Amino acid sequence: KTFADAGLAEPILRAVTAQGYENPTPIQSEVIPVMSAGEDVLGIAQTGTGKTAAFVLPLLTQLAKERKKPEPHTCRALILAPTRELASQIAESVRTYGQFIGPSFAVIFGGVKHGPQLRALSRGLDIVIATPGRLEDHMSTGGIKLSATTTIVLDEADQMLDLGFAPAIRRILSKLPKPRQTVLLSATMPTQIRKLAKEFLNNPKEISV
Ligand code: AMP
Repeated sequence: KTFADAGLAEPILRAVTAQGYENPTPIQSEVIPVMSAGEDVLGIAQTGTGKTAAFVLPLLTQLAKERKKPEPHTCRALILAPTRELASQIAESVRTYGQFIGPSFAVIFGGVKHGPQLRALSRGLDIVIATPGRLEDHMSTGGIKLSATTTIVLDEADQMLDLGFAPAIRRILSKLPKPRQTVLLSATMPTQIRKLAKEFLNNPKEISV
């Protein structure tokens, strides 16, 4: 199986080629077609397996196929991550794999000033990559509304639960519109993750590599 078989848009394929990737990794082979079909994903994936590209590439393909200007204070896709380091790494992947479509995106995490983040959010964005706490801050002040967010990815969900983000994640997921696409990735699959998936995912394809 090649990246082209997996159903990625041409400018995204070009970026993958520019990175020197020859073939999809196993998690990419599984996740890309399912996400491209618009289905929910419950995936067990460790760091180093290529899991970031597995969800970023189909996400960018969706955006490339349906170019529209986001309304102010909204985002089309939301990626939640446990730490600022991971959020920043995901943003770097969005920049790299999106280099030929130029998606608008912002990284939102705590410990830094609200102002610059608020200015980015106020323009409206294709993708927001955020840690749950700071995202909720911006939700409560009207900096971001999730009413137009039709795709959400929870990356390293077990890590987010370990950091005490379960209530925040539940509140965030409750604010998202339906129908939507929900992708939950986790290195482990404890009961709490299963429970979260049952509450918020719609007939997900289970993927484990
Ligand atoms: P991740 O598991 O997302 O942290 O990715 C691990 C590393 O694998 C990153 O440095 C990527 O650049 C690299 N990578 C992702 N997909 C591929 C691929 N299909 N072929 C070769 N390297 C890849």
